[in-house]
Amino acid sequence: MQTLRARSKNVFSNVLVRSPDGTDMFRCKTELGQWYLNKNLAEEVSNNPLIIQLSFQPKGQGHAGDPFYLQERHNNCIVCGTAERLTLHHMVPRCYKRHLPLEMKSRSCAEAKGGRYGTYDTMALCDKCHGVYETQFSWPLKQKLANKVGIPMNGLYLADRKTAINIGRTACAIKQHGEKMPKERLEELYRRLKAHYGKDEITEEDLDAAIERLPKGPDILASRQIVKQLKTPEEIDDFFIMWRRHFVDSMKPKYMPDHWQVDRRICS
Ligand SMILES: [Zn+2]
Repeated sequence: MQTLRARSKNVFSNVLVRSPDGTDMFRCKTELGQWYLNKNLAEEVSNNPLIIQLSFQPKGQGHAGDPFYLQERHNNCIVCGTAERLTLHHMVPRCYKRHLPLEMKSRSCAEAKGGRYGTYDTMALCDKCHGVYETQFSWPLKQKLANKVGIPMNGLYLADRKTAINIGRTACAIKQHGEKMPKERLEELYRRLKAHYGKDEITEEDLDAAIERLPKGPDILASRQIVKQLKTPEEIDDFFIMWRRHFVDSMKPKYMPDHWQVDRRICS
């Protein structure tokens, strides 16, 4: 998921990319669409919404014919429906994905550009729902998995490395510079922590704990060991499906994108 810092704009920009023969291939970020246009690798078909047509023959056909990837993704929290303070949530936590075998990683990379993997498990969540899932549901499962491989995690209820760093640094900033900060800035930092912990008040102990929980080695070791045990594409898919099911069972999202199935197999 990325950081819990909510974005001021949409999390999905939904640029539609077509092949030279006019087949819908994939959706991508505005930045990538613009990059194709700037490099004269594509022509604009329509401006709002942005649709571009590649002027070169790409290697593959992207996601042609796959309604999940070709649909316009909504910029609403999949759990509560709000369009405010959205973040990106990775249903399969990034702390595991980063240890996937190279071949899978390249799929993830390709997918980031409209290729095969990543966006299937990438969802819009508001910062509040995101905080609830990470702290109340995701963290206990991560701990359980880590205990299974005999490497207990020390990060307490912190989701992944990047989140841990953000939350820890936010707490640090408040402790060290809070008194000199403009009021709005300080409020924003507190608001971020409140959303993350799903609490209305942040105590001095919370700040200390957030700093204490800045990620350390064993959390990374545990994630790596867990992924190492996934020997086949089937086992990797099973792991992904387990995490998707865990999210759905925990949060009961009411606004999942169309054509999404908890048990879709990506690698096998
Ligand atoms: Zn929400």
